[in-house]
Amino acid sequence: MAYMEKRKALIEKLKREGRIKSDEVEKAFLEVPREEFVPEVMRDYAYVDTPLEIGNGQTISAPHMVAIMCEALDIKKGQKILEIGAGSGYHAAIVSKLVGEAGHVYTVERFSLLAEKAQEHLEIVGVKNVTVEVGDGSEGFSEHAPYERIYVTCAAPKTPRPLVDQLSDPGKLMVPIGRLMCELKLIEKKEGKLIEKNLGGCAFVPLVGKHGF
Ligand code: SAH
Repeated sequence: MAYMEKRKALIEKLKREGRIKSDEVEKAFLEVPREEFVPEVMRDYAYVDTPLEIGNGQTISAPHMVAIMCEALDIKKGQKILEIGAGSGYHAAIVSKLVGEAGHVYTVERFSLLAEKAQEHLEIVGVKNVTVEVGDGSEGFSEHAPYERIYVTCAAPKTPRPLVDQLSDPGKLMVPIGRLMCELKLIEKKEGKLIEKNLGGCAFVPLVGKHGF
């Protein structure tokens, strides 16, 4: 089956399972070729709903997890977004479609090799509104703060304080908390207050850094 057909079949599955809910997220999934973000030997598995190895012991998140996070963050056109954990660049590419050309995604990655590859993948698929930065994302990325949405694609021991500080008001922050099995937290900042919701269990590689493990 051609990649596009496989992509459409995966999108239908994610819709049936209630992971993809909005037209915007569906369109973003349709526009981003996941096969370009995985190592060549794994391209046949690009549309299996599972994480895949991308090098440095890290993984590209499963498509359903990307969908859940995008839907819960309620991303709007024109927003400025911070991602911690660029990995392959796939999740950032999806979010870049949700914010559109007027918006921007900054993504921080601790491994320079992965950051370089993520940059390459984004260029190949023609995404221009994502900036990949090498560094310790547990400290956020203060240069461009505040951000209307911040999300972390690795698991932290607790919510890193710099991320709360770099979130705009109003704003939404999503972070998996725990080791191996973790809980996905959605924190909403509104009129100076923080409201926290638990979105359930998940599995992520650890956030390694000053405010991480
Ligand atoms: N969003 C990615 C998933 C990457 S997995 C994708 O779509 O492919 C999580 C990533 O977080 C890994 O690449 C890991 O190296 C990175 N990471 C872990 N700790 C980090 C830190 N403190 N700062 C930046 N990146 C970190």
